[in-house]
Amino acid sequence: MLLRMSTLFLRTLREDPADAEVPSHKLLVRAGYIRRVAPGIYSWLPLGKIVLENVARVVREEMDRMGAQEVLFPALLPRDFYEPTGRWTEYGDTLFRLKDRKGSDYLLGPTHEEMFTDMVKGEYSSYKDYPVTLYQIQTKYRDEARPRAGILRGREFVMKDSYSFDLDDDGLKHSYEQHRDAYIRIFDRLGIDYRICFAMSGAMGGSASEEFLAPCPTGEDTFVACHNCGYAANAEAVTTSAPPAVTVEHPALEILDTPNTPTIESLVDHVNEHFGLGITAADTLKNIVVKVRTPGSDKVETLVVGVPGDREVDFKRLEAAVAPGIPEIFEGEDFARHPGLVRGYIGPQVLASLGITYLVDPRVVTGSAWVTGANEPGKHAAHVVAGRDFQPDGTIEAAEIRAGDLCPRCAHPLSIDRGIEIGHIFQLGRKYADAAGLDALGPDGKPIRVTMGSYGVGVSRAVAVVAEQRHDALGLVWPREIAPADVHIVGTGKENQIEVATQLAEELESRGLRVLVDDRPGVSPGVKFKDSELLGLPTVLIIGRGLAQGVVELRDRATGTKEEIPLAEAMDRVLAACRA
Ligand code: ATP
Ligand code: MG
Repeated sequence: MLLRMSTLFLRTLREDPADAEVPSHKLLVRAGYIRRVAPGIYSWLPLGKIVLENVARVVREEMDRMGAQEVLFPALLPRDFYEPTGRWTEYGDTLFRLKDRKGSDYLLGPTHEEMFTDMVKGEYSSYKDYPVTLYQIQTKYRDEARPRAGILRGREFVMKDSYSFDLDDDGLKHSYEQHRDAYIRIFDRLGIDYRICFAMSGAMGGSASEEFLAPCPTGEDTFVACHNCGYAANAEAVTTSAPPAVTVEHPALEILDTPNTPTIESLVDHVNEHFGLGITAADTLKNIVVKVRTPGSDKVETLVVGVPGDREVDFKRLEAAVAPGIPEIFEGEDFARHPGLVRGYIGPQVLASLGITYLVDPRVVTGSAWVTGANEPGKHAAHVVAGRDFQPDGTIEAAEIRAGDLCPRCAHPLSIDRGIEIGHIFQLGRKYADAAGLDALGPDGKPIRVTMGSYGVGVSRAVAVVAEQRHDALGLVWPREIAPADVHIVGTGKENQIEVATQLAEELESRGLRVLVDDRPGVSPGVKFKDSELLGLPTVLIIGRGLAQGVVELRDRATGTKEEIPLAEAMDRVLAACRA
């Protein structure tokens, strides 16, 4: 491959795009890899397309290596397939729905469990056919609530999704492990720094699940890591170890006058000063009201979540905990409709009589006593005991996780970081096989319900993640495996410099390298250097002023090293650098 910048369809920009906040978005636009069409919808220009295809190639090679077989489904799908699993409605506003000219319902596929299940059901019937793993690399559509950061969270994006079909749980475990190994090889080859984290199964409804998260300050996911036992988990999936139930006798519930205590802090100060309780924020019970909407219907349920007052509710954890329900803020008009809920002074004592579901943080154990709202303006209650003065309907993992919280496995303090999800592996189980009635005929003539796994890699997102993790102040720094070319040869200006650059480029191409040559006449060396740094190819060869003395410059984009070398050695040196 030989790309000539004199004709390459490429315009770099000196200014960051106005809507870009994160480095990968700024750089991919400035370097002319992608262009915005609409929120979360992007076009790929020639260099970007090459990088995207390179990522897809790595994914494909590793999927093929593990024995998965590639297929391709349409993106435009009829509603019928998504009805038996409930996902036509459960997917909520994230699903792009449309009608054809006859008024029939269609959707743009956000993920393809239903389609793969149906395909296998159509082709396979005997236990002898199994196991099988199929995958596709395909464009997905999700009307994300918050499309963000260019191709990092798109509404149209490229995903590799695969699905394993096994006859029993051991088979599923094996397929899962194979995918895990393949993903490790994929992300290693892509040059991504990642952690494998326990994950929440979310809307999918199943069991074992892990996410590959790329640590990154701009990431939307929060994950914890234990440096003692190696536990790592998405904050959504972290479980809180409940302390043992409390058996001591508590004094009777007492109503306290607490005027002007709108915050937990003011409440704690007030009750300590006036009632000598000697409590901290962790001894108060904060009750947050939310509405939980059932996707695709008008059904909205009121839910109260109780957390210790020193912690906020983490909305993402709450979202994960109530999925597929969608939590929404309880607003002024909602309070108006529920006079029993006294804003700012809600206590769980009345919830059962109001018929409102009450879920508590696991720290709110039976026998624990709290200072909480008294359901009257300006009043709180002390010695409100779980199991005595109120009965929670269950527990919920919605309280924020903090650095220093204890590891659920070994009780060592956890660290906390942000990351971007690049892959997800997931033991689905029989949910989709049940919906489709996917059985294999067993050796005894009896049907065996098939068990499935589902596995995704964000192919287009990976391009952004590499850019996010590998760049500097000057531009992108691609790992060779996915770089748009191996070497960027820059002829700085004078005609014979461009001529020599072009000759070298042609020779290196004939030796099997992928080459980009800056052969633009009348463009200043300064501009060419800036572009070369911005584009971020791993090896750069400058044919500049030294040419008169038979000297050229070899640069390594990642390390920044620059070395003057004789022109006669340029071929071999570039080949060596690119094959190292
Ligand atoms: P997220 O939590 O980031 O929304 P998800 O849990 O919805 O991801 P999956 O449904 O498991 O993701 O999809 C598999 C992979 O596809 C993800 O690991 C991610 O890399 C990628 N992906 C998901 N949504 C998007 C998107 N909107 N834009 C780009 N890539 C995405
Ligand atoms: Mg998502």
